[in-house]
Amino acid sequence: MKLTSLGPEGARNMLREKQRRNRLASKELRVQFPQFATVRVDLVFNDAAAQPPAPQSIVLHPPARAYFVYPCPYVSCSGELDLAANVDDIAEHGKTRTAGRAKCNGERHGRQGKGPCDLQIDYSIAVGK
Ligand SMILES: [Zn+2]
Repeated sequence: MKLTSLGPEGARNMLREKQRRNRLASKELRVQFPQFATVRVDLVFNDAAAQPPAPQSIVLHPPARAYFVYPCPYVSCSGELDLAANVDDIAEHGKTRTAGRAKCNGERHGRQGKGPCDLQIDYSIAVGK
C-alpha cells in the first residue's frame, strides 16, 4: 500500500501504528541496557519559518521499552527521529551523555502545499547509572 494514497491522516495513523508495534517489540531497558538506571532524552525544536513546537523531555526507567524513535511533533508530518544508534554509542563507549542536531526527514503540508519538513531538532541524551 502506498502512503500517498492514504492522505496525511491515514499515513500518520499508519506510522503511529508501526511505532506502537516496534515499541512493543523492543526489549525492556533493563534487558537491553542493564547498566543504565535511567535514560533521559531532551528534544528542542527550531523552525525557521514558524513558531516551533514545544520542547519535549522523555525519561525512561528500567521497565520501559528501549525504543528511541520519536515522531515529528508536526501533526501533518511523516518524519521521525531515530536516536537508537546514539544510545548504542553511549553504551558502547561508556559515556554518560551525548548531544547533536538533526533535521526532520519527513514531509508535511504547509502553506505552499506538501514539502520537506526540515524542522531542526537539537537532541541530548543523558544516562543515569
Ligand atoms: Zn517533520
